[in-house]
Amino acid sequence: MKLTEKAEEILESMWIAIEEEGRGFVDLDSVEVTADDPAVRELTGHAFVELKGERIHFRPEGRAEGEKTIRRHRLAERLMMDVLNIRGDNAEIKACQFEHLLNEGVDVKVCTMLNHPTTCPHGKRIPPGECCEEAASRGDLGVVPLTELKSGEEGEIAYILTEDNKKMQKLMAMGVLPGNQIVLMQAFPSYIFRVGYSEFAIDTAMAREIFVRR
Ligand SMILES: [Zn+2]
Ligand SMILES: [Zn+2]
Repeated sequence: MKLTEKAEEILESMWIAIEEEGRGFVDLDSVEVTADDPAVRELTGHAFVELKGERIHFRPEGRAEGEKTIRRHRLAERLMMDVLNIRGDNAEIKACQFEHLLNEGVDVKVCTMLNHPTTCPHGKRIPPGECCEEAASRGDLGVVPLTELKSGEEGEIAYILTEDNKKMQKLMAMGVLPGNQIVLMQAFPSYIFRVGYSEFAIDTAMAREIFVRR
């Protein structure tokens, strides 16, 4: 079932207050709603929360849903900042809009692409999903910078993360494109890799900008 954005935001605020800040209860004022707000009725209708006077309480299903919502929000932040390179207030607003799209398996794809991050860009914990637990049990490290590969190790290029267009063009001219196989030949004193039949040497800063799926 899909909740409205307002209802999801109430669950998020409640989850942060109760689970992270250790507050025993949340009142309607602190989540900036009134008892007759349609979003509150939506949440009580799904039996996610219970109202007792001015206080709003989680039911177990609501707590679980709140955790998933926080997870999507923080994954959206990581995606905005790490991959799309959107910063500042703009990132926060976009993350709030974007998180609602990370439903129905999209969050798993984003989480895997980001290598199952454990914290958001503000250092807050991202509640792990099933994908994170499965990856950990497989010893799967997902997407890592080229600098994390060992000499002789091969991977598939996932994406390139650079703000510098010239660098991007240089890498693309080397065949460093998403989907291509890359083998790290040497890591010291410079990074030497092979793509196709060609070998190239780059410095550490550039090697950190190439993300590879192991
Ligand atoms: Zn954050
Ligand atoms: Zn994950």
